[in-house]
Amino acid sequence: MAMDPRALWTMSYGMYLVTARAGGRANGQIANAVFQVTAEPPRVAIAINKENFTHDLIRDGGWFAFSVLADTVPMEFIGLFGFKSGRDVDKLAQATVREGLHVPLVVAHAVAVTEARVLLAMDAGSHTVFVGEAVSAEVLSAGAPLTYAGYHARKGKAPKNAPTYRGDAEPPAPPTAPAVASPWTCGVCGYTYDPAEGDPAHGIAPGTRFEDLPDDWVCPVCGAPKDAFLPD
Ligand code: FE
Repeated sequence: MAMDPRALWTMSYGMYLVTARAGGRANGQIANAVFQVTAEPPRVAIAINKENFTHDLIRDGGWFAFSVLADTVPMEFIGLFGFKSGRDVDKLAQATVREGLHVPLVVAHAVAVTEARVLLAMDAGSHTVFVGEAVSAEVLSAGAPLTYAGYHARKGKAPKNAPTYRGDAEPPAPPTAPAVASPWTCGVCGYTYDPAEGDPAHGIAPGTRFEDLPDDWVCPVCGAPKDAFLPD
């Protein structure tokens, strides 16, 4: 049997925000590889890239927490935690955080949060798999969790907190831009700028062509500059 990577793309995941602290520094990052290993005692596993700041904080601090993100989470919130490094930005200063037993817990845009003590760390190549014992957990909201597939389906649309966001059930708005205006997609995070929708959250009116965006406009999801975009 040949190795077809598309077979792995069919696998289902959630969207989580993993937090950790060590040596007086704390950070959080987006992760999709989080799952429960055993029920009794309750044990959970996460896979974290060794290059990430959070990886070292988990390794050195010996604890981690993860928030299950709600399906109403703004794309910019995912952009902050998924596309910026905690080595450069104090990400937790920009989120609603509550102190856990050992690490900060991100409670904004989350339906549940769990804190775990690391039991073992397995070297898996580019990533380390940390298995932890869940020592504290709480349901924060009755909302639905965001899935990895749901995140990718939303990525090309306006952020859900944008005034122009339309649910899939509604008909598309009439075109307000010339037919020649094409969407452009961010080469870093995959966000698509749609000229018909603009970027009202950042003062860009619907109907604004990508070419006419100000030079200092940046990707609303990951913060990449204009020249990181390519036309669709
Ligand atoms: Fe981007």
